[in-house]
Formats: sequence, structure tokens, C-alpha cells
Amino acid sequence: MRDLNYTVAETADAAIAQFAEAGGTARYIAGGTNIYDLMKLGIERPARLIDVSRIEGLNAIETEGDVLRFGANALMADVAETDVVRDQYPVLAESLLKAASHQLRNMATVGGNLLQRTRCMYFRNGAGSLSTVGVYPCNKREPGSGCSAIGGLDRTQAVLGTSDACTAVAPGDWPVALTALDAAIEIAGPDGTRTVPIADFYRLPGDAPHREFNINPGELVTAITVRKTPAGRLSTYHKIRDRESYAFALASAAVALDMEGDAVRDARIALGGVATTPWRAGAAENIVAGRQLTPELALEAGQAAFTDARPGAQNAFKIELGARVIADALMIAAQRRA
Ligand SMILES: Cc1cc2nc3c(=O)[nH]c(=O)nc-3n(C[C@H](O)[C@H](O)[C@H](O)COP(=O)(O)OP(=O)(O)OC[C@H]3O[C@@H](n4cnc5c(N)ncnc54)[C@H](O)[C@@H]3O)c2cc1C
Repeated sequence: MRDLNYTVAETADAAIAQFAEAGGTARYIAGGTNIYDLMKLGIERPARLIDVSRIEGLNAIETEGDVLRFGANALMADVAETDVVRDQYPVLAESLLKAASHQLRNMATVGGNLLQRTRCMYFRNGAGSLSTVGVYPCNKREPGSGCSAIGGLDRTQAVLGTSDACTAVAPGDWPVALTALDAAIEIAGPDGTRTVPIADFYRLPGDAPHREFNINPGELVTAITVRKTPAGRLSTYHKIRDRESYAFALASAAVALDMEGDAVRDARIALGGVATTPWRAGAAENIVAGRQLTPELALEAGQAAFTDARPGAQNAFKIELGARVIADALMIAAQRRA
């Protein structure tokens, strides 16, 4: 039995001060749907949990003006059901509604979702008291211990953004939609506040896969912002998984289009389930930009996104699946102009 200290922070400043007081042994907790899981598995072992879920105003959803602003503590369910999000930014609403279960979405926050950790089975198994499968080396869990997925069971692993140290997939759906829309993350910390474009928030594994996010210990995510864009309306989040609900993506695509008639003025495409971070598919975007969208062109764009893919023994299917997911998402998004 280990001691666990639990405190509640009523303000962002109080949370940051409590974290500083506890040093590296603290973790924030919002909805708890990921951190408790990881504590039960023995992967996270905080001596202190700082509950940030009751911070005044941190659950606000603001839709006026040029920017959509989601407080970090806004619930996934509430954001998905916000009128503007549902009607004008279906890619955001669908990424939330296709994640987890309704019960989880009623607990889980959009800020916590950004920082959830990988579902790689070698990361999750082998570390803790409830594990039944023994200890597998994992560089993300134990830096320098090795990667059991490389040369192991790799069907669900990433094919893009991998390194010789890690092939774990970034798990979240919402960050993929946010990546397509160039969202920004507002962060408060001991040295003040800063805003990080989502493209800079996630780190490639490289030789330090345990460092997944560009956020420092003690910093608090306070909000996520999305600049309003006409491309929001012609958008979709298309997710393929082993079962049709309550499962993580094998491959997913967030697509948002700005179109003039049948021609694409501008396309934003991001991928989930296939990469080690939420993955912007610039090569696919370039293929459709300025052209008449046809199913053939959409597939060509999908294939271009995987030119640099590095599959393992069992996950090469993700290359064709991912290409087709992009192609289908492009056509679904384009049909919404009717
Ligand atoms: C069975 C199951 C199925 C799931 N399926 C999916 C799925 O299909 N798609 C998907 O995207 N997700 C899925 N999830 C993950 C779920 O969406 C996340 O667990 C949830 O979004 C995390 O939010 P939370 O508020 O509960 O975070 P918590 O568990 O409270 O926190 C998660 C992490 O974020 C940190 N944190 C929380 N808030 C802040 C903050 N404001 N500032 C700084 N750090 C913070 C915590 O310290 C912790 O490290 C699933 C989860 C489960 C259990």
C-alpha cells in the first residue's frame, strides 16, 4: 500500500502552486478516466493527485467571435452537443462522438483527452500490480528498456512517425480533428501563460518516446482554441476500428474542405490510428488543392499520405486502409455542400 495525497484546486493559480509544492510526485486529475487507469496498472505512481476539475470557469465553451474556445475541463459530451460545433464543425463533434462511450464522455474532459497516453499493449501491460502478462520492456514506460512491439505483435502499431525506439500510436480522436483545424492550446504555468499550436504540442518518439507532449511538469492546459473557418462545415471525422463502437482507431481521417463547386480551394487532412502523433497529411492536401474532387483523385491523395510509411510484420494493412479512409472522408466531406 502506498500513500496518496489528494487535494482539490479551486483556481488555476492554486493548482500550479500545489504542483510546485509537491514537486515531481504530483499529477493533475480532471475526469480521471485515463490517469486512474494508469495508476491501477502501476504505470503512473503519483504521491499527490491535484483535482483540477472544479476550477471556476475552466469548463466554459465559448462560441462567439472569430474563435471557438473550449475550456480544458469542458466535457467531451458537452462539446459534441454544442450547437455550433455540431452544425458548423462536424469534424470536431464526430471525433468526440466516435470516442469511448457515452458514460466516459460524460466524465472525460477535452483537456485530459489531449494528454491521454498510448494504448500500446506493451506500454500498458507488464508494469503493474494488476498485470497478468509479465513485464515487457517499453521505452515509453521505462526509458532505455527497449521496445517489445518492434519485432513483436505490431498489428495495431503506427506506420508513420515511428522510430527505432517506439512505434506506439497516439490514441486520441479529438486531437486529430484539432490538428486538421490548426487548433491552439492555452497553457498556464509558474512562469505565466503561453499558447502552443497543436502541431507543436505532440513530440515524435525519436530516442525519447517517454516525452510525448511539449508541456512542462506543473503546467496546466486551460483551453483549446479553434479559429473559425468556412472549411468547418464541409468536414468529417471518419474512423475505422475493429468494432463499430467503443474502440480506438485502426485508421481515421479528419478532413475539412473549402470548395468552390466541385473544385477544392483548400483541404485540411489529419490522420489518427496510424501514426505516433496526430498526423497532418500535407502531401494528400497538396494533391487535392485546386482540383476537381473525384473518387480517383481522393484515393491518389490517400496513397500520397503513406509514401513514407514504415510498416512492421503485421500492420502493413494500415497503409491501404489509411489511404481508403482518407479517400472516403474526402468524399463524405465534399457531399456536405449539398
Ligand atoms: C474504455 C475506454 C475507451 C476509450 N476510447 C477512446 C477512444 O475511442 N478515443 C479517444 O480519443 N479516447 C478514448 N478513451 C480515452 C478517454 O477519452 C480519455 O481517457 C479522456 O479523454 C481523458 O480525459 P480525463 O478528463 O478523464 O483525463 P484524466 O484521466 O483526468 O487525465 C489524463 C491526463 O491528462 C492530465 N491532465 C488532465 N487535465 C489536465 C489539464 N487541464 N492540464 C494539464 N494536464 C491535465 C492528467 O494529469 C493525466 O496525465 C477511452 C478511454 C477508456 C477508459
